[in-house]
Amino acid sequence: MNKNIHTFIGCESDYGDSRIVVFGAPFDSTTSYRPGTRFASSAIRNESFGLETYSPYQDRDITDYHIFDGGDLELAFGSTNRALTQIEKFTAQILQDKKIPFMIGGEHLVTLGAVRSVVKEYPDVHIIHFDAHTDLRDEYLGVTLSHATVIRRCHDLVGNNRIFQFGIRSGDREEFYWAKDHVSTCRFNFDTLHSALERIGDKPVYFTLDLDILDPSVFPGTGTPEAGGVSFQELLAAIENVTKLNIVALDMNELSPVYDQSGASTALACKTLREILLYLGGK
Ligand code: MN
Ligand code: MN
Repeated sequence: MNKNIHTFIGCESDYGDSRIVVFGAPFDSTTSYRPGTRFASSAIRNESFGLETYSPYQDRDITDYHIFDGGDLELAFGSTNRALTQIEKFTAQILQDKKIPFMIGGEHLVTLGAVRSVVKEYPDVHIIHFDAHTDLRDEYLGVTLSHATVIRRCHDLVGNNRIFQFGIRSGDREEFYWAKDHVSTCRFNFDTLHSALERIGDKPVYFTLDLDILDPSVFPGTGTPEAGGVSFQELLAAIENVTKLNIVALDMNELSPVYDQSGASTALACKTLREILLYLGGK
């Protein structure tokens, strides 16, 4: 008999053998519209068993690589600061062990905890940000730590010209005006991706993927759906290019399984996770 295990499909290697460490950060306390992302990592693991480990896109199989699934963090409820500190410490441990942390949100604010530790390990880190939303508010309803302010807080840490956003189609006017002098914002699509990749070169990169960059017709299961998004194929092509960079840490966030009545959004998230793991693992 084998022991009962609950991992993302194919990610059953030991920690010591693995270069990539997947873990869940089930936190959605600052969600402004429709909460539920705290259930994403668990749903992704469950539904991943409906997925093949083999990718016909890449002719690679997850079982050919050593990937560790560290499970979900047990995050403090009711204390955003405490939860972010927990994420920061966990990520720092993985980085110190010379591995790549791959966090599954949760709402987008979880990114800040990971970026805090990455900046300490890699002071020249650049951030690639896929999202429908700018997430550049300085505060939201008087709160400075929010899914709507997360990239602004990351900018506090990394400074100007280090953040590259794509797919952006929502935010308030001040965010878009502020962005012009501080970050690179590609509206609606990935048109400027190649020039961004050239500018970044071999610098260390944190890649944060807010799945609501996708059109709600293919990805309705999210807290803040935003019409006019990219297709799955466009996303996959962009991911293929981004993962050629020197990725030192990354996350995928904002799947909210409670709004995914068909299961299609969770299936999409599983497939996206598989493809990213294979792009990273196959380098
Ligand atoms: Mn976001
Ligand atoms: Mn978003």
